[in-house]
Amino acid sequence: MQLLDGKFASEKIKLEIAAEAADFLAQHGRKPHLIAILVGNDGGSETYVASKMKNCEKVGFQSSLIRYGVEVTEEELLLKVREINNDAGVDGLIVQLPLPKHIDPEKVTEAIDHRKDVDGFHPINLGRMVRNLPCFIPATPYGILLMLKAYGIDTAGKHCVVVGRSNIVGTPMSILMARNANPGNCTVTLTHSRTTNLKELVLQADIIIAAIGKKNFITADMVKPGAIIIDVGINRETSEKTKSGYKLYGDVDFENVAPLASWITPVPGGVGLMTIVGLLRNTLASAKKEIYS
Ligand code: NDP
Repeated sequence: MQLLDGKFASEKIKLEIAAEAADFLAQHGRKPHLIAILVGNDGGSETYVASKMKNCEKVGFQSSLIRYGVEVTEEELLLKVREINNDAGVDGLIVQLPLPKHIDPEKVTEAIDHRKDVDGFHPINLGRMVRNLPCFIPATPYGILLMLKAYGIDTAGKHCVVVGRSNIVGTPMSILMARNANPGNCTVTLTHSRTTNLKELVLQADIIIAAIGKKNFITADMVKPGAIIIDVGINRETSEKTKSGYKLYGDVDFENVAPLASWITPVPGGVGLMTIVGLLRNTLASAKKEIYS
């Protein structure tokens, strides 16, 4: 078993991004700029946004955090999004999900200018992704592609089973792995909670991408020896043993699955770190007008 080490891969790519950001600053007299909007004070969202902001600073981007209380109206939020859309000094805008129930996340996602949609959630970016056109790829799937690339993993012709069909992970991941691209060119099976023969399908996989949100869901009896395992899951449990007060678990029973796998991502230290890199890459590409001129 070999580890797909998110710390190693992400640090290497962040050095490349930092060098490109320094060139951008020298040429344009400003840094690539990412704005994050955070509504409310959900513990997980706070941590993710803080990490995104910190990493922007690390690679030489400007980052701004706009915070709203849970009582903010949909209209106020949409107004702010439109204001940022028109600000030429901003390259990327993300609105951290989930949003409070009275705000429609679809409306907010569609209000973001697709040319600044560095989370890659806008229907224009998703549509362009399906057609294999230049676009912002959602950060987590993009991070997984960057991880596979960093370790030179050949995916062509392999059977990839994706477990979970969310709009932000499972569904885009299935499309990306099926595209005529590298990484890609897989035969893909997309599974979800209504899949009846899940174990049988996962057992056939050369590559398993688990994005379910259930601790240790993928067990050793579901894994073919030699499979490549990508564990997207982040399941928090309170713990008295850690400084933060919680411990993270993936969707894969790492301890028992790892000995069977050829490659596997740990949690933490795997896909989560690569997600940040995906977001940074998209923000830089936006600043450099590599996707949309
Ligand atoms: P969602 O809750 O949006 O989707 C979960 C998916 O899992 C759904 O498609 C659901 O099926 C499927 N599912 C649930 N139970 C089963 C089951 N028993 N059998 C088969 N499929 C099942 O989750 P996300 O995609 O947003 O996130 C998944 C996990 O990844 C979470 O732990 C999340 O925290 C983590 N995550 C990690 C990121 C990172 O950077 N590492 C980024 C984003 C998410 P159905 O559609 O039928 O309900």
